[in-house]
Amino acid sequence: MDKTIGQTLQEELTFKFPHIGKDAPEQIGEAEQFCTGYKRFLDNGKTERECVREAAAMLEMQGYVPFDTTKSYKAGDKVYQINRGKAILATTFGREGLEKGLRMNGAHIDSPRLDLKPNPVYEKNDLAYFKTHYYGGIRKYQWATVPLAMHGVIIKKSGEVMEVNIGEKEGDPVFCITDLLPHLAADQNDRKLGDGLKGEELNVIIGSLPFNDEAELKEPVKLMTLKLLHDRLGITEADFLRAEIELVPAQKASDVGLDRSIIGAYGQDDRVCAYTALMAEIDAVNPEYTTVTVLADKEEIGSDGNTGLNSHFVLHYIEDLAEMAHANVRTVLRNSICLSSDVNAAYDPTFASVYEERNSCYINKGCVLTKYTGVRGKAGSNDASAELMAKVIAMMDKEGVYWQIGELGAVDQGGGGTIAKYVAAMDVDVVDLGVPILSMHSPFELSSKLDVYNTYKAFRAFYK
Ligand code: MN
Ligand code: MN
Repeated sequence: MDKTIGQTLQEELTFKFPHIGKDAPEQIGEAEQFCTGYKRFLDNGKTERECVREAAAMLEMQGYVPFDTTKSYKAGDKVYQINRGKAILATTFGREGLEKGLRMNGAHIDSPRLDLKPNPVYEKNDLAYFKTHYYGGIRKYQWATVPLAMHGVIIKKSGEVMEVNIGEKEGDPVFCITDLLPHLAADQNDRKLGDGLKGEELNVIIGSLPFNDEAELKEPVKLMTLKLLHDRLGITEADFLRAEIELVPAQKASDVGLDRSIIGAYGQDDRVCAYTALMAEIDAVNPEYTTVTVLADKEEIGSDGNTGLNSHFVLHYIEDLAEMAHANVRTVLRNSICLSSDVNAAYDPTFASVYEERNSCYINKGCVLTKYTGVRGKAGSNDASAELMAKVIAMMDKEGVYWQIGELGAVDQGGGGTIAKYVAAMDVDVVDLGVPILSMHSPFELSSKLDVYNTYKAFRAFYK
């Protein structure tokens, strides 16, 4: 039957982002396969340091060598550089000269979590605990009654670096924060949700048995846990003063749903973009423009600190690249394009009121291009130009990438920021692109495999 004029007009003048599962069901299997490696990456990298180590191993396996400013490189060569064990940069040299600009992709590998305080061990009523200080934006009540694993490093007095990882291996003990039983929660139920658990209530149980001795000991349960830590790691209480220990959910990445279409895991913000960016970097063969893939730290606390994007470490890397190629670094920066690769809040039908449906991203509709983030009228946002939106959309459309647009929630509901503004401060064109996430910043975040796969495809198109 012929289409009516109205039907034809509707087709020509309006648009809708398709559901990938309906539009390209053949991608379901491809996405499934791609996400096997992603789940492994999530399980092997639950801290920024572990992600750097994992990424470096993957890069080295693919022939990347440490960046050496005294060497010269030709198109197709691959190098990487680690910043203080917590951030990593990787480059594939392009066919075009550096002054034509770089193609940059910046994701972050730090995630919200509970850090140990510098003096964390204490005993109360025959229970031994760790005191924690949360890192990044968490909804504190979500972190009780969840099995936690202990990850990090301790620098011993001798200078020896002690790696800590308890709670991940089969048979390992885990740790836990308690919450009240409903029977006795009358007062707690009257608290506002944000105070459901307070910061100083995020105390982690680490033991309950005493060290038995003929002498009367002051804190025998604390002593017993310290003895067990000493047996296991050779550390004393004072060693925590030279440590970075993070408590993270102990659960491994799992498939969610009978159709296994969703991945549930801790730390997908923003290791989902880190992994897809890394895979696109590795798969870049003789790209037109030189690539700079950045996996950064500290985004969740505002990118401050010298392993975050609000420091000059990326600029210095680009300066080194430019100097080596006798290129003007300002010209390099001015002509560069960067994807600030970070997750966005997927529309959640259960909490529809905080979203604006026409400008939200949805799971299974592909990676989300986010023109601006920010709060109260785009404050703190990079707000990418229409020209850059056009360029990035054209790149994705050319390669058949499924993508959508999205804002971070409805106006006046809150908001947030990404690394984009720090990249823009270097005089680089930058726009946010990433994966829609449900339950973002919770101990168990959800992403769709089809979206993860299409984000990888977008990054690959960008590095052509
Ligand atoms: Mn993020
Ligand atoms: Mn975040």
